[in-house]
Amino acid sequence: MRSTSKAYFVGGGIGSLAAAAFLIRDGGFSGAQITVMDAGPVMGGSLDGAGDAQRGYSLRGGRMLTFDNYECTWDLFKTIPSLSQPGRSVWEETLAFNEQHVSHAQARLVDSRRAKVPVASMGFSMQDRLELLKLSRADEATLGHSCITDHLSPAFFETPFWFMWATTFAFQPWHSAVEFRRYLHRFMLEFSRIDTLAGVRRTVYNQYDAMVLPLQRWLEGQGVQLLPNCTVTDLDHKLEDGLFTVIGLHCTVSGVSETRILEGGDLVFVQNGSMTDASSLGSMTMAPPALSKAHNGSWTLWEKLASQQPAFGRPEVFNSNIAQSNWASFTVTLHNSAFFDQMQAFSGNRAGTGGLVTFKDSNWLMSIVLAHQPHFINQPADVQVFWGYGLHPERVGNFVAKPMADCSGAEILQELCGHLRFDATSVAGANCIPCRMPYITSMFMPRSPGDRPLPVPADTKNFAFISQFVEIPLDVVFTVEYSVRAAQMAVYALLGIERAIPPVTPHDHDLHTQFEALLKALQS
Ligand SMILES: Cc1cc2nc3c(=O)[nH]c(=O)nc-3n(C[C@H](O)[C@H](O)[C@H](O)COP(=O)(O)OP(=O)(O)OC[C@H]3O[C@@H](n4cnc5c(N)ncnc54)[C@H](O)[C@@H]3O)c2cc1C
Repeated sequence: MRSTSKAYFVGGGIGSLAAAAFLIRDGGFSGAQITVMDAGPVMGGSLDGAGDAQRGYSLRGGRMLTFDNYECTWDLFKTIPSLSQPGRSVWEETLAFNEQHVSHAQARLVDSRRAKVPVASMGFSMQDRLELLKLSRADEATLGHSCITDHLSPAFFETPFWFMWATTFAFQPWHSAVEFRRYLHRFMLEFSRIDTLAGVRRTVYNQYDAMVLPLQRWLEGQGVQLLPNCTVTDLDHKLEDGLFTVIGLHCTVSGVSETRILEGGDLVFVQNGSMTDASSLGSMTMAPPALSKAHNGSWTLWEKLASQQPAFGRPEVFNSNIAQSNWASFTVTLHNSAFFDQMQAFSGNRAGTGGLVTFKDSNWLMSIVLAHQPHFINQPADVQVFWGYGLHPERVGNFVAKPMADCSGAEILQELCGHLRFDATSVAGANCIPCRMPYITSMFMPRSPGDRPLPVPADTKNFAFISQFVEIPLDVVFTVEYSVRAAQMAVYALLGIERAIPPVTPHDHDLHTQFEALLKALQS
Protein backbone atom coordinates (compact mmCIF):
# COMPACT_ATOMS: atom_id res chain seq x y z
CA MET A 1 0.00 0.00 0.00
CA ARG A 2 1.48 3.33 -1.04
CA SER A 3 1.47 6.05 1.59
CA THR A 4 -0.40 8.19 -0.95
CA SER A 5 -3.17 5.60 -1.46
CA LYS A 6 -6.66 6.93 -0.93
CA ALA A 7 -9.68 5.24 0.58
CA TYR A 8 -13.21 6.14 -0.50
CA PHE A 9 -16.30 5.17 1.46
CA VAL A 10 -19.67 5.07 -0.27
CA GLY A 11 -22.09 5.66 2.61
CA GLY A 12 -21.42 7.30 5.97
CA GLY A 13 -23.12 4.87 8.37
CA ILE A 14 -21.42 3.56 11.49
CA GLY A 15 -19.90 0.79 9.34
CA SER A 16 -17.98 3.26 7.17
CA LEU A 17 -17.02 5.53 10.06
CA ALA A 18 -15.71 2.50 11.96
CA ALA A 19 -13.74 1.31 8.94
CA ALA A 20 -12.19 4.76 8.49
CA ALA A 21 -11.08 4.61 12.13
CA PHE A 22 -9.64 1.10 11.69
CA LEU A 23 -7.72 2.31 8.61
CA ILE A 24 -6.10 5.02 10.73
CA ARG A 25 -5.71 3.17 14.03
CA ASP A 26 -4.61 -0.21 12.73
CA GLY A 27 -3.77 0.34 9.06
CA GLY A 28 -1.38 3.28 9.19
CA PHE A 29 -3.52 5.53 6.97
CA SER A 30 -3.59 9.23 7.71
CA GLY A 31 -7.01 10.87 7.88
CA ALA A 32 -6.18 13.02 4.85
CA GLN A 33 -6.13 9.87 2.69
CA ILE A 34 -9.78 9.08 3.52
CA THR A 35 -13.06 10.43 2.10
CA VAL A 36 -16.49 9.36 3.35
CA MET A 37 -19.49 10.21 1.12
CA ASP A 38 -23.10 9.93 2.21
CA ALA A 39 -26.29 10.67 0.34
CA GLY A 40 -27.85 12.15 3.49
CA PRO A 41 -27.26 15.55 5.11
CA VAL A 42 -25.37 14.08 8.09
CA MET A 43 -23.13 11.11 8.81
CA GLY A 44 -24.35 8.15 10.87
CA GLY A 45 -26.94 6.65 8.51
CA SER A 46 -29.44 4.51 10.42
CA LEU A 47 -27.80 5.41 13.74
CA ASP A 48 -29.60 8.71 13.93
CA GLY A 49 -30.86 11.22 16.47
CA ALA A 50 -31.87 14.76 15.57
CA GLY A 51 -33.95 17.78 16.49
CA ASP A 52 -34.36 20.13 19.41
CA ALA A 53 -36.83 20.94 22.16
CA GLN A 54 -38.73 23.49 20.05
CA ARG A 55 -39.09 21.53 16.79
CA GLY A 56 -39.23 18.16 18.54
CA TYR A 57 -36.69 15.37 18.68
CA SER A 58 -36.64 12.44 16.34
CA LEU A 59 -35.00 9.02 16.44
CA ARG A 60 -35.74 6.31 13.95
CA GLY A 61 -34.55 3.82 16.54
CA GLY A 62 -33.77 3.36 20.20
CA ARG A 63 -30.88 0.91 20.38
CA MET A 64 -29.97 -1.73 22.89
CA LEU A 65 -26.41 -2.97 23.18
CA THR A 66 -24.71 -5.57 25.38
CA PHE A 67 -21.27 -5.91 26.93
CA ASP A 68 -21.32 -9.70 26.47
CA ASN A 69 -21.41 -9.36 22.69
CA TYR A 70 -20.52 -6.30 20.54
CA GLU A 71 -16.86 -7.34 20.66
CA CYS A 72 -15.70 -5.29 17.65
CA THR A 73 -17.80 -2.26 18.63
CA TRP A 74 -16.18 -1.96 22.04
CA ASP A 75 -12.75 -2.77 20.58
CA LEU A 76 -13.24 0.36 18.48
CA PHE A 77 -14.80 2.61 21.10
CA LYS A 78 -12.10 1.79 23.66
CA THR A 79 -9.91 4.11 21.58
CA ILE A 80 -12.43 6.84 20.73
CA PRO A 81 -12.52 9.71 23.26
CA SER A 82 -15.84 10.61 24.88
CA LEU A 83 -17.15 14.05 23.97
CA SER A 84 -18.72 14.77 27.32
CA GLN A 85 -16.20 13.20 29.74
CA PRO A 86 -12.66 14.39 29.01
CA GLY A 87 -9.99 11.76 29.62
CA ARG A 88 -12.41 8.87 29.16
CA SER A 89 -13.09 6.73 26.12
CA VAL A 90 -16.64 6.17 24.85
CA TRP A 91 -16.30 2.62 26.21
CA GLU A 92 -15.32 3.85 29.69
CA GLU A 93 -18.12 6.40 29.84
CA THR A 94 -20.66 3.76 28.71
CA LEU A 95 -19.39 1.26 31.26
CA ALA A 96 -19.65 3.79 34.10
CA PHE A 97 -23.11 4.90 32.95
CA ASN A 98 -24.42 1.33 33.01
CA GLU A 99 -23.01 0.74 36.48
CA GLN A 100 -25.16 3.66 37.64
CA HIS A 101 -28.27 2.86 35.62
CA VAL A 102 -28.94 -0.85 35.79
CA SER A 103 -31.63 -2.36 33.52
CA HIS A 104 -34.24 -4.37 35.38
CA ALA A 105 -37.60 -4.08 33.63
CA GLN A 106 -40.68 -4.53 35.83
CA ALA A 107 -43.30 -4.20 33.11
CA ARG A 108 -42.27 -6.00 29.94
CA LEU A 109 -45.73 -7.04 28.74
CA VAL A 110 -49.01 -5.25 29.38
CA ASP A 111 -52.31 -6.89 28.36
CA SER A 112 -55.62 -5.45 27.17
CA ARG A 113 -56.77 -5.01 30.81
CA ARG A 114 -53.71 -2.81 31.39
CA ALA A 115 -52.34 -5.53 33.65
CA LYS A 116 -48.65 -6.35 33.77
CA VAL A 117 -48.32 -9.90 32.48
CA PRO A 118 -46.19 -12.19 34.69
CA VAL A 119 -43.23 -13.12 32.52
CA ALA A 120 -40.92 -15.09 34.78
CA SER A 121 -42.05 -18.19 32.83
CA MET A 122 -41.51 -18.16 29.08
CA GLY A 123 -44.74 -20.11 28.62
CA PHE A 124 -43.29 -22.92 26.51
CA SER A 125 -45.14 -26.16 25.99
CA MET A 126 -43.15 -29.37 25.58
CA GLN A 127 -43.76 -29.12 21.84
CA ASP A 128 -42.35 -25.58 21.78
CA ARG A 129 -39.25 -26.79 23.58
CA LEU A 130 -38.69 -29.66 21.22
CA GLU A 131 -39.21 -27.48 18.17
CA LEU A 132 -36.86 -24.81 19.52
CA LEU A 133 -34.30 -27.45 20.29
CA LYS A 134 -34.55 -28.84 16.77
CA LEU A 135 -34.29 -25.38 15.20
CA SER A 136 -31.35 -24.36 17.36
CA ARG A 137 -29.47 -27.52 16.39
CA ALA A 138 -30.24 -27.46 12.68
CA ASP A 139 -27.44 -26.29 10.42
CA GLU A 140 -27.90 -23.33 8.13
CA ALA A 141 -27.69 -25.42 4.98
CA THR A 142 -30.66 -27.50 6.17
CA LEU A 143 -32.71 -24.44 7.18
CA GLY A 144 -31.98 -22.83 3.82
CA HIS A 145 -34.46 -20.19 2.73
CA SER A 146 -37.14 -21.23 5.26
CA CYS A 147 -39.16 -18.95 7.59
CA ILE A 148 -39.51 -19.18 11.37
CA THR A 149 -43.10 -20.42 10.92
CA ASP A 150 -41.78 -23.42 8.98
CA HIS A 151 -40.23 -24.71 12.21
CA LEU A 152 -42.35 -23.49 15.13
CA SER A 153 -46.06 -24.22 15.68
CA PRO A 154 -48.72 -21.47 15.96
CA ALA A 155 -48.92 -21.76 19.77
CA PHE A 156 -45.25 -20.72 20.07
CA PHE A 157 -46.14 -17.29 18.69
CA GLU A 158 -48.53 -16.74 21.60
CA THR A 159 -45.94 -17.41 24.33
CA PRO A 160 -44.61 -14.58 26.51
CA PHE A 161 -41.17 -15.57 25.21
CA TRP A 162 -42.14 -14.78 21.61
CA PHE A 163 -43.72 -11.43 22.52
CA MET A 164 -40.59 -10.42 24.43
CA TRP A 165 -38.05 -11.84 21.96
CA ALA A 166 -39.89 -10.54 18.89
CA THR A 167 -40.28 -7.02 20.24
CA THR A 168 -36.75 -6.84 21.63
CA PHE A 169 -35.17 -7.86 18.34
CA ALA A 170 -37.98 -6.95 15.85
CA PHE A 171 -38.57 -10.44 14.48
CA GLN A 172 -41.75 -11.32 12.59
CA PRO A 173 -42.95 -14.94 12.17
CA TRP A 174 -42.23 -14.83 8.42
CA HIS A 175 -38.59 -13.86 8.86
CA SER A 176 -35.52 -15.98 8.17
CA ALA A 177 -35.21 -19.16 10.25
CA VAL A 178 -31.43 -18.99 9.77
CA GLU A 179 -31.26 -15.51 11.29
CA PHE A 180 -33.62 -16.45 14.14
CA ARG A 181 -31.40 -19.45 14.92
CA ARG A 182 -28.31 -17.24 14.86
CA TYR A 183 -29.99 -14.92 17.39
CA LEU A 184 -30.77 -17.84 19.71
CA HIS A 185 -27.08 -18.70 19.73
CA ARG A 186 -25.56 -15.21 19.67
CA PHE A 187 -27.86 -13.82 22.38
CA MET A 188 -28.02 -17.02 24.41
CA LEU A 189 -27.41 -15.07 27.62
CA GLU A 190 -30.49 -12.92 26.94
CA PHE A 191 -32.67 -16.06 26.74
CA SER A 192 -32.88 -16.37 30.50
CA ARG A 193 -33.08 -12.62 31.23
CA ILE A 194 -35.35 -11.45 28.43
CA ASP A 195 -38.10 -10.86 31.04
CA THR A 196 -36.12 -8.07 32.74
CA LEU A 197 -33.73 -7.12 29.91
CA ALA A 198 -31.03 -7.25 32.55
CA GLY A 199 -28.35 -7.87 29.93
CA VAL A 200 -29.17 -4.76 27.92
CA ARG A 201 -26.71 -1.91 28.01
CA ARG A 202 -27.45 1.67 26.98
CA THR A 203 -25.37 4.61 25.85
CA VAL A 204 -25.31 7.84 27.87
CA TYR A 205 -27.33 9.68 25.22
CA ASN A 206 -29.01 8.46 22.05
CA GLN A 207 -26.57 6.61 19.80
CA TYR A 208 -26.05 9.49 17.38
CA ASP A 209 -24.87 11.75 20.19
CA ALA A 210 -23.07 8.99 22.12
CA MET A 211 -21.44 6.97 19.32
CA VAL A 212 -21.58 8.68 15.92
CA LEU A 213 -20.62 12.18 17.06
CA PRO A 214 -17.51 11.22 19.09
CA LEU A 215 -16.33 8.97 16.26
CA GLN A 216 -17.01 11.67 13.69
CA ARG A 217 -15.14 14.29 15.75
CA TRP A 218 -12.17 11.95 16.12
CA LEU A 219 -12.10 11.27 12.38
CA GLU A 220 -12.38 14.98 11.57
CA GLY A 221 -9.51 15.62 13.99
CA GLN A 222 -7.44 13.13 12.00
CA GLY A 223 -8.22 15.01 8.77
CA VAL A 224 -10.80 12.63 7.25
CA GLN A 225 -12.99 14.37 4.68
CA LEU A 226 -16.70 13.80 5.35
CA LEU A 227 -18.93 14.65 2.40
CA PRO A 228 -22.69 14.79 3.14
CA ASN A 229 -25.29 15.16 0.34
CA CYS A 230 -23.06 13.11 -1.95
CA THR A 231 -24.68 10.15 -3.73
CA VAL A 232 -22.43 7.71 -5.53
CA THR A 233 -24.33 6.63 -8.62
CA ASP A 234 -21.89 4.25 -10.31
CA LEU A 235 -18.41 2.75 -10.19
CA ASP A 236 -16.07 2.30 -13.16
CA HIS A 237 -14.01 -0.84 -13.02
CA LYS A 238 -11.56 -2.88 -15.02
CA LEU A 239 -10.30 -6.43 -14.69
CA GLU A 240 -6.69 -6.44 -13.48
CA ASP A 241 -5.15 -9.91 -13.43
CA GLY A 242 -8.73 -11.18 -13.57
CA LEU A 243 -9.65 -9.19 -10.45
CA PHE A 244 -12.51 -6.63 -10.23
CA THR A 245 -10.71 -3.32 -9.71
CA VAL A 246 -12.53 -0.03 -9.18
CA ILE A 247 -10.99 2.81 -11.20
CA GLY A 248 -13.56 5.59 -10.89
CA LEU A 249 -16.50 6.86 -8.87
CA HIS A 250 -19.46 8.77 -10.28
CA CYS A 251 -21.28 10.91 -7.76
CA THR A 252 -23.79 13.68 -7.43
CA VAL A 253 -22.77 16.30 -4.88
CA SER A 254 -25.70 18.52 -3.89
CA GLY A 255 -27.19 17.85 -7.33
CA VAL A 256 -23.98 18.39 -9.34
CA SER A 257 -22.34 15.42 -11.13
CA GLU A 258 -18.69 14.64 -10.38
CA THR A 259 -16.27 11.88 -11.31
CA ARG A 260 -13.33 10.79 -9.19
CA ILE A 261 -10.56 8.89 -10.94
CA LEU A 262 -8.79 6.32 -8.76
CA GLU A 263 -5.13 5.45 -8.87
CA GLY A 264 -3.40 2.13 -8.31
CA GLY A 265 -3.53 1.25 -4.61
CA ASP A 266 -6.70 3.24 -3.90
CA LEU A 267 -9.48 1.42 -2.02
CA VAL A 268 -13.27 1.60 -2.26
CA PHE A 269 -15.73 0.49 0.44
CA VAL A 270 -19.42 0.38 -0.45
CA GLN A 271 -22.37 0.31 1.96
CA ASN A 272 -24.72 -1.93 0.03
CA GLY A 273 -28.30 -1.26 1.07
CA SER A 274 -29.67 0.45 4.16
CA MET A 275 -32.46 -0.58 6.54
CA THR A 276 -33.56 3.06 6.76
CA ASP A 277 -33.62 3.73 3.03
CA ALA A 278 -36.81 5.58 2.02
CA SER A 279 -37.77 6.22 5.66
CA SER A 280 -39.91 9.31 6.17
CA LEU A 281 -41.09 11.51 9.02
CA GLY A 282 -44.54 12.91 9.77
CA SER A 283 -45.70 15.42 12.36
CA MET A 284 -48.42 15.91 14.99
CA THR A 285 -50.88 16.59 12.17
CA MET A 286 -49.50 14.51 9.31
CA ALA A 287 -48.67 10.83 8.78
CA PRO A 288 -45.27 10.14 7.19
CA PRO A 289 -45.46 9.80 3.40
CA ALA A 290 -45.17 6.27 1.95
CA LEU A 291 -41.88 6.05 0.06
CA SER A 292 -40.01 3.20 -1.57
CA LYS A 293 -36.49 2.59 -2.83
CA ALA A 294 -37.27 4.59 -5.95
CA HIS A 295 -37.35 7.73 -3.75
CA ASN A 296 -33.96 7.39 -2.04
CA GLY A 297 -31.54 4.98 -3.56
CA SER A 298 -29.22 3.26 -1.07
CA TRP A 299 -30.10 0.06 -2.90
CA THR A 300 -29.49 1.38 -6.42
CA LEU A 301 -25.72 1.08 -6.51
CA TRP A 302 -25.78 -2.43 -5.03
CA GLU A 303 -28.37 -3.44 -7.64
CA LYS A 304 -26.09 -2.12 -10.42
CA LEU A 305 -23.02 -3.88 -9.04
CA ALA A 306 -24.86 -7.14 -8.37
CA SER A 307 -26.13 -7.23 -11.94
CA GLN A 308 -22.46 -7.33 -13.08
CA GLN A 309 -20.96 -9.85 -10.63
CA PRO A 310 -22.75 -12.88 -9.11
CA ALA A 311 -20.39 -12.72 -6.10
CA PHE A 312 -21.88 -9.33 -5.18
CA GLY A 313 -25.14 -10.89 -3.93
CA ARG A 314 -28.83 -10.49 -4.68
CA PRO A 315 -30.35 -7.26 -3.30
CA GLU A 316 -33.80 -8.23 -4.60
CA VAL A 317 -34.00 -10.93 -1.92
CA PHE A 318 -34.06 -8.16 0.70
CA ASN A 319 -35.76 -5.17 -0.90
CA SER A 320 -38.69 -6.63 -2.85
CA ASN A 321 -41.35 -7.05 -0.16
CA ILE A 322 -42.16 -3.95 1.88
CA ALA A 323 -45.19 -5.75 3.39
CA GLN A 324 -42.75 -8.12 5.12
CA SER A 325 -40.00 -5.65 5.96
CA ASN A 326 -41.69 -2.49 7.24
CA TRP A 327 -42.65 -1.10 10.59
CA ALA A 328 -43.11 2.33 12.12
CA SER A 329 -41.65 4.20 15.07
CA PHE A 330 -42.29 7.51 16.82
CA THR A 331 -40.43 9.93 19.07
CA VAL A 332 -42.29 12.05 21.63
CA THR A 333 -40.99 15.33 23.04
CA LEU A 334 -42.71 16.44 26.26
CA HIS A 335 -42.61 19.78 28.02
CA ASN A 336 -44.11 18.66 31.32
CA SER A 337 -43.39 15.63 33.42
CA ALA A 338 -46.96 14.22 33.71
CA PHE A 339 -46.47 11.36 31.25
CA PHE A 340 -43.09 10.32 32.69
CA ASP A 341 -44.45 10.53 36.26
CA GLN A 342 -47.42 8.30 35.46
CA MET A 343 -45.41 5.87 33.35
CA GLN A 344 -42.70 5.49 36.00
CA ALA A 345 -45.35 4.88 38.65
CA PHE A 346 -47.17 2.35 36.48
CA SER A 347 -44.11 0.43 35.28
CA GLY A 348 -42.18 0.52 38.56
CA ASN A 349 -39.10 1.63 36.66
CA ARG A 350 -37.29 4.93 36.79
CA ALA A 351 -36.60 6.14 33.23
CA GLY A 352 -33.47 4.40 32.02
CA THR A 353 -33.86 1.31 34.21
CA GLY A 354 -36.77 -0.35 32.46
CA GLY A 355 -36.89 -1.58 28.94
CA LEU A 356 -39.46 -1.97 26.24
CA VAL A 357 -42.99 -1.95 27.60
CA THR A 358 -45.01 -3.92 25.04
CA PHE A 359 -48.79 -3.76 24.74
CA LYS A 360 -49.07 -7.39 23.77
CA ASP A 361 -52.74 -7.29 22.78
CA SER A 362 -52.46 -4.07 20.82
CA ASN A 363 -53.30 -4.42 17.15
CA TRP A 364 -50.18 -2.47 16.21
CA LEU A 365 -48.06 -4.55 18.63
CA MET A 366 -46.90 -1.30 20.14
CA SER A 367 -43.96 -0.83 22.54
CA ILE A 368 -42.42 2.19 24.21
CA VAL A 369 -39.23 2.77 26.16
CA LEU A 370 -38.31 5.59 28.52
CA ALA A 371 -34.57 6.13 28.28
CA HIS A 372 -32.55 7.94 30.92
CA GLN A 373 -32.98 11.71 30.58
CA PRO A 374 -31.59 13.80 29.00
CA HIS A 375 -31.53 11.57 25.93
CA PHE A 376 -30.05 14.27 23.69
CA ILE A 377 -26.94 16.32 24.36
CA ASN A 378 -28.88 19.54 23.71
CA GLN A 379 -32.00 18.54 25.68
CA PRO A 380 -33.10 21.06 28.33
CA ALA A 381 -33.66 19.76 31.87
CA ASP A 382 -37.43 20.43 31.78
CA VAL A 383 -37.98 18.42 28.58
CA GLN A 384 -38.45 14.64 28.33
CA VAL A 385 -38.14 12.44 25.26
CA PHE A 386 -39.29 8.86 24.69
CA TRP A 387 -39.39 6.47 21.76
CA GLY A 388 -41.78 3.78 20.68
CA TYR A 389 -42.69 1.59 17.75
CA GLY A 390 -45.30 -0.72 16.28
CA LEU A 391 -44.49 -3.98 14.54
CA HIS A 392 -47.84 -4.02 12.67
CA PRO A 393 -48.35 -0.52 11.25
CA GLU A 394 -50.66 -1.95 8.58
CA ARG A 395 -53.34 -2.80 11.16
CA VAL A 396 -56.16 -0.58 12.43
CA GLY A 397 -55.60 0.53 16.04
CA ASN A 398 -57.64 -0.38 19.12
CA PHE A 399 -58.40 3.25 20.01
CA VAL A 400 -57.88 4.93 16.62
CA ALA A 401 -59.74 3.48 13.66
CA LYS A 402 -56.78 3.75 11.31
CA PRO A 403 -53.65 1.80 10.42
CA MET A 404 -50.67 3.14 12.38
CA ALA A 405 -48.87 3.92 9.10
CA ASP A 406 -51.61 6.42 8.23
CA CYS A 407 -51.66 8.10 11.64
CA SER A 408 -50.40 11.51 12.62
CA GLY A 409 -48.39 11.95 15.81
CA ALA A 410 -51.54 13.10 17.66
CA GLU A 411 -53.37 9.90 16.68
CA ILE A 412 -50.45 7.73 17.80
CA LEU A 413 -50.52 9.45 21.21
CA GLN A 414 -54.30 8.84 21.39
CA GLU A 415 -53.72 5.11 20.78
CA LEU A 416 -50.91 4.98 23.34
CA CYS A 417 -52.96 6.73 26.03
CA GLY A 418 -55.81 4.30 25.26
CA HIS A 419 -53.64 1.29 26.06
CA LEU A 420 -52.25 2.93 29.18
CA ARG A 421 -55.61 4.39 30.27
CA PHE A 422 -53.79 7.68 30.73
CA ASP A 423 -55.78 10.88 30.47
CA ALA A 424 -55.07 12.92 27.34
CA THR A 425 -53.75 15.68 29.62
CA SER A 426 -50.70 13.49 30.31
CA VAL A 427 -49.46 14.33 26.81
CA ALA A 428 -50.73 17.91 26.62
CA GLY A 429 -48.35 19.99 24.53
CA ALA A 430 -46.44 16.90 23.37
CA ASN A 431 -44.84 16.70 19.96
CA CYS A 432 -44.97 13.17 18.54
CA ILE A 433 -43.01 12.67 15.31
CA PRO A 434 -43.95 9.43 13.53
CA CYS A 435 -41.50 7.64 11.26
CA ARG A 436 -42.21 5.14 8.50
CA MET A 437 -39.47 2.63 7.59
CA PRO A 438 -40.30 0.40 4.62
CA TYR A 439 -37.07 -1.65 4.75
CA ILE A 440 -36.41 -1.71 8.48
CA THR A 441 -36.31 -5.53 8.74
CA SER A 442 -35.17 -6.21 5.18
CA MET A 443 -32.04 -7.88 6.63
CA PHE A 444 -34.30 -10.51 8.24
CA MET A 445 -35.89 -11.63 4.96
CA PRO A 446 -35.40 -15.35 4.28
CA ARG A 447 -32.13 -15.79 2.39
CA SER A 448 -29.92 -18.45 0.87
CA PRO A 449 -26.14 -18.75 0.68
CA GLY A 450 -24.83 -16.28 -1.88
CA ASP A 451 -27.63 -13.74 -1.40
CA ARG A 452 -25.22 -11.62 0.66
CA PRO A 453 -21.70 -10.86 -0.62
CA LEU A 454 -18.64 -11.43 1.55
CA PRO A 455 -17.12 -8.20 2.98
CA VAL A 456 -14.29 -8.73 0.49
CA PRO A 457 -15.81 -10.75 -2.34
CA ALA A 458 -13.71 -13.27 -4.28
CA ASP A 459 -11.86 -11.97 -7.32
CA THR A 460 -11.78 -8.34 -6.28
CA LYS A 461 -8.66 -6.24 -5.83
CA ASN A 462 -9.40 -2.95 -4.11
CA PHE A 463 -13.04 -3.28 -3.16
CA ALA A 464 -15.16 -4.25 -0.14
CA PHE A 465 -18.74 -4.15 1.12
CA ILE A 466 -19.60 -2.93 4.62
CA SER A 467 -23.19 -3.22 5.73
CA GLN A 468 -25.95 -5.30 7.27
CA PHE A 469 -26.16 -7.18 3.96
CA VAL A 470 -22.80 -8.95 3.91
CA GLU A 471 -22.15 -12.51 5.02
CA ILE A 472 -20.33 -12.88 8.34
CA PRO A 473 -20.34 -16.34 9.91
CA LEU A 474 -22.14 -16.64 13.30
CA ASP A 475 -22.92 -12.95 13.77
CA VAL A 476 -26.40 -11.38 13.66
CA VAL A 477 -27.82 -8.49 11.66
CA PHE A 478 -29.87 -5.54 12.93
CA THR A 479 -26.99 -4.69 15.21
CA VAL A 480 -24.35 -1.97 15.30
CA GLU A 481 -21.90 -4.80 15.94
CA TYR A 482 -22.54 -6.44 12.57
CA SER A 483 -21.58 -3.29 10.66
CA VAL A 484 -18.50 -2.65 12.82
CA ARG A 485 -17.41 -6.29 12.48
CA ALA A 486 -17.86 -6.08 8.69
CA ALA A 487 -15.75 -2.90 8.74
CA GLN A 488 -12.96 -4.50 10.72
CA MET A 489 -12.98 -7.61 8.51
CA ALA A 490 -12.93 -5.57 5.30
CA VAL A 491 -10.10 -3.24 6.39
CA TYR A 492 -7.96 -6.00 7.87
CA ALA A 493 -8.39 -8.20 4.78
CA LEU A 494 -7.61 -5.47 2.24
CA LEU A 495 -4.59 -4.20 4.19
CA GLY A 496 -3.35 -7.58 5.39
CA ILE A 497 -3.46 -6.43 9.04
CA GLU A 498 -2.43 -9.24 11.39
CA ARG A 499 -3.98 -7.90 14.61
CA ALA A 500 -6.70 -10.39 15.67
CA ILE A 501 -10.33 -9.40 15.14
CA PRO A 502 -12.24 -10.11 18.39
CA PRO A 503 -14.09 -13.40 17.81
CA VAL A 504 -17.84 -13.86 18.24
CA THR A 505 -18.05 -14.99 21.89
CA PRO A 506 -19.38 -18.57 22.08
CA HIS A 507 -22.02 -18.02 24.78
CA ASP A 508 -24.09 -20.75 23.19
CA HIS A 509 -22.13 -23.66 24.64
CA ASP A 510 -24.56 -23.68 27.54
CA LEU A 511 -27.55 -23.75 25.22
CA HIS A 512 -26.44 -27.07 23.81
CA THR A 513 -25.88 -28.48 27.27
CA GLN A 514 -29.29 -27.28 28.45
CA PHE A 515 -31.14 -28.52 25.42
CA GLU A 516 -29.31 -31.85 25.40
CA ALA A 517 -30.39 -32.38 29.03
CA LEU A 518 -33.95 -31.42 28.15
CA LEU A 519 -34.00 -33.86 25.26
CA LYS A 520 -32.71 -36.68 27.44
CA ALA A 521 -35.37 -35.91 30.06
CA LEU A 522 -38.08 -35.98 27.44
CA GLN A 523 -36.89 -39.24 25.98
CA SER A 524 -36.57 -41.15 29.27
C1 LIG B 1 -35.34 1.56 14.49
C2 LIG B 1 -33.98 0.96 14.68
C3 LIG B 1 -33.71 0.23 15.82
C4 LIG B 1 -32.45 -0.37 15.98
N1 LIG B 1 -32.17 -1.04 17.13
C5 LIG B 1 -30.93 -1.54 17.31
C6 LIG B 1 -30.55 -2.13 18.55
O1 LIG B 1 -31.35 -2.22 19.48
N2 LIG B 1 -29.28 -2.58 18.68
C7 LIG B 1 -28.37 -2.49 17.68
O2 LIG B 1 -27.21 -2.90 17.86
N3 LIG B 1 -28.70 -1.95 16.49
C8 LIG B 1 -29.95 -1.48 16.29
N4 LIG B 1 -30.28 -0.91 15.10
C9 LIG B 1 -29.41 -1.16 13.95
C10 LIG B 1 -28.24 -0.25 13.76
O3 LIG B 1 -28.61 1.09 13.93
C11 LIG B 1 -27.75 -0.51 12.32
O4 LIG B 1 -27.47 -1.88 12.20
C12 LIG B 1 -26.51 0.24 11.94
O5 LIG B 1 -26.63 1.59 12.29
C13 LIG B 1 -26.28 0.07 10.44
O6 LIG B 1 -25.13 0.77 10.09
P1 LIG B 1 -24.52 0.71 8.63
O7 LIG B 1 -23.37 1.64 8.63
O8 LIG B 1 -24.25 -0.68 8.22
O9 LIG B 1 -25.67 1.17 7.64
P2 LIG B 1 -26.52 2.50 7.61
O10 LIG B 1 -26.50 3.16 8.90
O11 LIG B 1 -27.82 2.13 7.02
O12 LIG B 1 -25.71 3.44 6.64
C14 LIG B 1 -25.64 3.27 5.27
C15 LIG B 1 -25.47 4.67 4.71
O13 LIG B 1 -25.00 4.57 3.38
C16 LIG B 1 -25.62 5.55 2.61
N5 LIG B 1 -25.53 5.12 1.22
C17 LIG B 1 -25.86 3.91 0.70
N6 LIG B 1 -25.63 3.90 -0.63
C18 LIG B 1 -25.11 5.11 -0.93
C19 LIG B 1 -24.66 5.71 -2.14
N7 LIG B 1 -24.70 5.02 -3.30
N8 LIG B 1 -24.17 6.96 -2.10
C20 LIG B 1 -24.10 7.64 -0.92
N9 LIG B 1 -24.55 7.14 0.25
C21 LIG B 1 -25.03 5.89 0.24
C22 LIG B 1 -27.03 5.61 3.16
O14 LIG B 1 -27.62 6.84 2.86
C23 LIG B 1 -26.79 5.43 4.64
O15 LIG B 1 -26.63 6.69 5.27
C24 LIG B 1 -31.49 -0.25 14.95
C25 LIG B 1 -31.76 0.52 13.83
C26 LIG B 1 -32.98 1.14 13.68
C27 LIG B 1 -33.23 1.98 12.49
